[in-house]
Amino acid sequence: MANSYFTPADLPYAQDALAPVISADTIAFHYGKHLQAYINNLNAALPGSGFEGKSLEEIVRTSEGGIFNNAGQVLNHTLYFTQFKAAGKESEPKGALAAAIARDFGSFESFKAEFQKKGAGLFGSGWVWLSSDAEGKLHITQESNAGNPVCRGLNPLLTFDVWEHAYYLDYQNRRPDHLAALWQIIDWDVVESRYEK
Ligand code: MN
Repeated sequence: MANSYFTPADLPYAQDALAPVISADTIAFHYGKHLQAYINNLNAALPGSGFEGKSLEEIVRTSEGGIFNNAGQVLNHTLYFTQFKAAGKESEPKGALAAAIARDFGSFESFKAEFQKKGAGLFGSGWVWLSSDAEGKLHITQESNAGNPVCRGLNPLLTFDVWEHAYYLDYQNRRPDHLAALWQIIDWDVVESRYEK
């Protein structure tokens, strides 16, 4: 019998709701196949590992090797897939997060430019992250492969997946175009709630 310690977070939108920024086909493979494989691999590796019963974040912070890679990818994709809203009117951060972005990056536009540049410039597979530290200061970091800012003691707020599986069906080699389009579907209420935690 398969273990089911972890299961995929429900998508807060229909599989075709992010199109044309992210197609239903990409969601079907990325959420339905890639994320599910990371979950299956993690669940299969947990028995007898010493990590059974621990939270996903604690596993990511304290594990290494195959357990870290799969747990990291489960945490990363959970934060990624739950930060989007149906394509439509592009929104902007409000409140405390908007003020922190202006303080730490100069403006929302310069934050977006820096975030896209770090995502486009990440060599190979990985993630670009916006995180906050214990003082509420914001940081943009590049993480290779399954990396997550919780390993640096940061609170992850927003992420763009730059693994090719995240965009190749829709954008082929045009990673920068994919990253530039993602702003249209960011649910800033979700990102803001992560910042206020
Ligand atoms: Mn991915």
